[in-house]
Amino acid sequence: MELRIEPLLAGQLKDKITASAALGFGKHFTDRMLVADWRQGQGWYDARIVPYGPFQLDPAAAVFHYGQEIFEGLKAYHQPDGAIALFRPEMNLARFNRSAARLALPQVPAELFMDGLTELLRLEAEWVPDAPETSLYIRPALIATEAALGVKAARECRFFIILSPVGAYYPSGFKPLRILLEDQLVRAAPGGTGAAKTGGNYAASLLGAGEAKNRGFDQVLWLDALEHRYVEEVSAMNIFFVIDGRLVTPPLSETILGGITRDSLLWLAPALGLEVEERPVAVDELLDGARSGQVSEVFGSGTAAVVAPVGELGYRHELVRIADGEVGKLTRLLYDTLTGIQYGRVADKLGWLRKL
Ligand SMILES: *Cc1c(COP(=O)(O)O)cnc(C)c1O
Repeated sequence: MELRIEPLLAGQLKDKITASAALGFGKHFTDRMLVADWRQGQGWYDARIVPYGPFQLDPAAAVFHYGQEIFEGLKAYHQPDGAIALFRPEMNLARFNRSAARLALPQVPAELFMDGLTELLRLEAEWVPDAPETSLYIRPALIATEAALGVKAARECRFFIILSPVGAYYPSGFKPLRILLEDQLVRAAPGGTGAAKTGGNYAASLLGAGEAKNRGFDQVLWLDALEHRYVEEVSAMNIFFVIDGRLVTPPLSETILGGITRDSLLWLAPALGLEVEERPVAVDELLDGARSGQVSEVFGSGTAAVVAPVGELGYRHELVRIADGEVGKLTRLLYDTLTGIQYGRVADKLGWLRKL
């Protein structure tokens, strides 16, 4: 696929922000973006790298009305030898196209996604920050742009990738989360879109997240839609437990998004001498286990935080602490190992890094 590269004009270059503290998450964007359009019958056309800036879209575009959209999230990491590396990006492409299928959006060819991203990163390489634990967050997205209010899969769509330099997630060390078990609202139901990375899932999570914040919690722990009994995900992260010394996480299903961090931790754990179990975990088992100490660690996993330790669980009118609110040893070991691989400090034995 031909990729057109539009030159930047002198005034279009932004000041680069490099200090971790000033970066934050998803607040700053680089100079350029990748864009490509799709029309039914024609396929993908006009793949281009253009100056970062607003889109002009028809107010009737389907994405504004029916939420037909998907996205991805991955990072580029500065390596000790000065190279820039992606972490398992082929997993993001595969998931992107699974999400696309569920939302009746067109498949994005590997060539457009990977070659487009690679070229964009080459042009924007100076934007990959190199302060400790910083990275360049990559956000691919696909939206329905057809201007028509009839409810149907749009016949015109746009794919784009934007880049955002992000600071260290834990600038002053881990801070265990206080999470509220949500037994009324649900994130995902069988047959729904829970396993797809689509904006609607996030929109539907905001009310519960806001209520949890008002009650003094950081995030929500989502339970299954049918019985409100099994633990599924924490906010937009997968969830892990250390139970009787074993690493436990719920099995993937239609209601649990298959995280690439989750998958990577499941590969790494056995090599670190940890036994792994994918099985349902009920609220009762979690709360009883936290009280008795059998559940000794709880953490979320996702690209942004990598690993997010949980220190407290709220359920109805009860509050239960995990290991006295301390960060667990295995949580820390898994975090150090995975971030070590991503930043090139630990040998990449499973061949996960893709250097540009
Ligand atoms: C993105 C996401 C995750 C984490 O996936 P990673 O690939 O590890 O970043 C987990 N749950 C939900 C609902 C998500 O959207």
